[in-house]
Amino acid sequence: MPKSDKIQNFESFCEIAEQFAVCMNDYLYVYDIINDTFYITERAAKRFALPGCLFHDVVETLRACVHPDDFSMLQEDLQQLFDGVKTEHELRYRWLGKDGVPIWIICRGRVLQNEEGRPWLMLGCINEIGRKQKADNVSGLLGVSSLQEHLKQISNLPEGFVMRIGIDDFRMINERLGVEYGDTVLRQVAQCIESRLLPGQYVYRVISDEFLVLDAVGCESEEVKELYYNIRQEVERTIAKQCYEAVYTISGGIVNTRDMQKADYEEIMRLSEFALGQAKRQGKNQVCVFAQEDYDAFLRARAISRSLRRAVSNDFVGLDLYFQPLVYADTEELYGAEALLRYQMPDGERISPMEFIPILEESGLIVPVGKWIIRKAADMCRECRKRYPQFRVSINLSYIQMTKSPVFAEVMDALKETGLPADALIMELTESGYLENSINVQKVWKKFKEAGIQIALDDFGTGYSNLQNIGRFNPDIVKIDRSFTLRALQHSYERQLLSHIINMVHSIDLRIVIEGVEEKEEQQQVMQLGSDFIQGYYYSMPCSRTEFLKKYNVE
Ligand code: C2E
Ligand code: CA
Ligand code: CA
Repeated sequence: MPKSDKIQNFESFCEIAEQFAVCMNDYLYVYDIINDTFYITERAAKRFALPGCLFHDVVETLRACVHPDDFSMLQEDLQQLFDGVKTEHELRYRWLGKDGVPIWIICRGRVLQNEEGRPWLMLGCINEIGRKQKADNVSGLLGVSSLQEHLKQISNLPEGFVMRIGIDDFRMINERLGVEYGDTVLRQVAQCIESRLLPGQYVYRVISDEFLVLDAVGCESEEVKELYYNIRQEVERTIAKQCYEAVYTISGGIVNTRDMQKADYEEIMRLSEFALGQAKRQGKNQVCVFAQEDYDAFLRARAISRSLRRAVSNDFVGLDLYFQPLVYADTEELYGAEALLRYQMPDGERISPMEFIPILEESGLIVPVGKWIIRKAADMCRECRKRYPQFRVSINLSYIQMTKSPVFAEVMDALKETGLPADALIMELTESGYLENSINVQKVWKKFKEAGIQIALDDFGTGYSNLQNIGRFNPDIVKIDRSFTLRALQHSYERQLLSHIINMVHSIDLRIVIEGVEEKEEQQQVMQLGSDFIQGYYYSMPCSRTEFLKKYNVE
């Protein structure tokens, strides 16, 4: 700008500020330090506890508009500007609304000097924190740092809730329709959320496809759920408007501040992530309210998982392999044993395999542990063969081992190391629904059979298309689950069914193990069913290697 045209006076700056103000949400101000006069654009005068857009005796007038706790901070900062110690002003603090409610603002400004070099005018802008600013280019929302700031400034979240909203299977949208379309979806969801928020509710984009709604209005969970359903409806409408170009859903996780020990950023992120995760685990396209019991169970699983990881890297300390005998149903002589895994936590707590095996599977630790089990079980079999030359050991294989580890090679190595024949080992697999559909599992299964390793179909009678699987997998042994046996012992119809199944299985040259026989009476009835082997507490509880060897006089 040519020097002659330079704006020289306070009034001109005020006029220009007002012209700009029409097209912005923020508030521009001009502060004449020398004449102690302050001008702020008109909308600010309506929003804040100010006497008007123009006022004098600035510091004292501001005192009535600034949160009492923040006033001295402001005063100090201004003093430095008056003294010429600095020329830039940037302060986050609270002004009071017309209704007296504190509003967080960021105030920035720059001091111009007059010809004598004295601080003359400060020109600046006030933004309301929590309003749209520093927008993320994709969603148009504020990001994590703004959320952190917001929380810091309100000294954590008071009564209220947070709701984490995630787009289900967002990766697939990106993969199928391209990243650009993914961005469009993000923008759409952001808009749907924003369109449904009430005053006092704010939304941030937290991670790639997740948003966090913050509410300090004190809504109850039911109202928040309603908000989720409203947003979802909005999303559905948007999808329909775009002629179903991309169909997607959203899930929500709600956490009430009452459920938080300290409603700070870390806690909010941790608990809301969990609540959203629950909604997704339960099938997506739904909302889930944080429940302490579920979270406790999750923390427990995590603690067990961590301690299992330590156990694995520490020579499997705490893990042990127990053995439960299988006896011939007619002679009650020892046929072999099933290897059953045990785990004791460092604090001494014994965890049930029903609890820790799924954790081993989810964490992938079943791969090293499974290998260890195979070696230990084979070694036990070698030991027992000293006294029982035909002894067999039965090893439970997890689906994850079958698909993610070189389990066949591991078994072959164990046979080589111990010098056992292939048929000394029985591999037990549970029909679970995945099994049947996996080509990999079928391949490994076939390799076992070709190598002469025996295969047992475990937990027969607990679900899934049992008979069909006998045909498909052609096992050597079928293990009847205790629940099926019990039903058969109680109801004549099921007894006949079981009896026919046993006959049928025998007719195709397979053998039957009846599991979970506890009492003498049960044992006698089971004998009549024509099973080949029996396994159960009636003969022995699973016991440690040492106990087992002692019990059966191996050493
Ligand atoms: P499963 O393979 O069906 O093992 C038989 C379960 O029945 C064992 O439970 C055993 O202790 C129990 N049992 C034996 N006799 C009786 C009885 O007379 N009455 C009753 N009520 N129960 C009896 P456990 O050891 O708690 O193992 C539970 C499950 O954990 C096993 O069921 C198996 O699915 C899994 N599991 C155990 N060890 C391993 C392992 O090394 N690898 C894998 N992948 N899974 C294992
Ligand atoms: Ca088993
Ligand atoms: Ca079983």
